Amino acid sequence: MAGPARVICDRCGGVIPQHAHYVVKIDVYADPSMPDVSLDDLEETDFDATMARLLEEMKGATAEELEDAVAKRFEFRICRSCQLRLIRDPLGRGRGGGGGAN
Ligand SMILES: [Zn+2]
Repeated sequence: MAGPARVICDRCGGVIPQHAHYVVKIDVYADPSMPDVSLDDLEETDFDATMARLLEEMKGATAEELEDAVAKRFEFRICRSCQLRLIRDPLGRGRGGGGGAN
């Protein structure tokens, strides 16, 4: 008999035994201590290049995406094997590295 509250791993899609899952919460938000930058400061640096880059990044972004760029909260439930992998490589940087046998 299956338990009443079967949990599916958000990372690998595997079924997790009851009460054996891990919860992952990720808050992503812009640096709250970001100082106000005056135009004078910008002109002293590379204002044109900076604006061009920002515009390039924003090009094609929907309003929703722009909102996501400010603050985003994720909550996942994952299995133990995914938890082990996550804490070893939270940002997934180990991918594409040919396995990176540690
Ligand atoms: Zn998993």
